[in-house]
Amino acid sequence: MPWRPGEDLRALVELVAPAQCPGCGREGSRLCRWCAAELGGGSPRLWRPTPCPAGFPPTWSGPAYDGAVRGIVVAWKEQDRVDLGPALAVVLRAALVAAIEASPEHREAVRSGRPVAVVPAPSARASTRSRGRSPVRELALRASGSPRAVVGALVLARAVQDQAGLSAGARAANLGGAVRVRPGLGDALEGVPCVVVDDVVTTGATLVECARALRAAGSGGVVAATVAATARRDRTDPRVSPIAGG
Ligand SMILES: [Zn+2]
Repeated sequence: MPWRPGEDLRALVELVAPAQCPGCGREGSRLCRWCAAELGGGSPRLWRPTPCPAGFPPTWSGPAYDGAVRGIVVAWKEQDRVDLGPALAVVLRAALVAAIEASPEHREAVRSGRPVAVVPAPSARASTRSRGRSPVRELALRASGSPRAVVGALVLARAVQDQAGLSAGARAANLGGAVRVRPGLGDALEGVPCVVVDDVVTTGATLVECARALRAAGSGGVVAATVAATARRDRTDPRVSPIAGG
């Protein structure tokens, strides 16, 4: 048999540590079909946080960030389960396509062959940065299917706290003015419609900041796409109304 390094090494690793599904903990599969269905079974939806911060871009998301989906995203991002990237990218791609289709400006640009920039949100997670990975960029590259479309235009202008565990107000304060366009990339974005992509949208503070920075650099319209969206906690809130149409 030919030596296939990837497969053989994976088999070897699985001998030592049996494959386990990060969604449900079931052993024997690196992503079981039930959790795969929970991740990728639905259609992307237009999503917004409650309360919705000013400047929040139209955002399309996959499933609720809960249960199995949460387990999969955490394993991919925090536990270096890079093998989950393709499954997550399929979900992000659907959200990306929906976001472009729903925006006349983006749709027209694609149809007439003009550029649309897919812009990864910068990560505030120290754990991610310290390992030198850019998981959201990796995901954006897979989801767009076009390395040229992905523009790593956004960086953190200053140190910010890890957003996890912060309230909505604290997140907004933590991120206020923290995102900026990389020096020298402003011209490339001039008038170009952008889609900001991220793994999870929670309070919307990150997407607001990304959109603000892009618009300040003279970009065209900004929309966003994420793999998952945090489920609303208060489902009886009378201010929450279903978003119809697009
Ligand atoms: Zn599972």
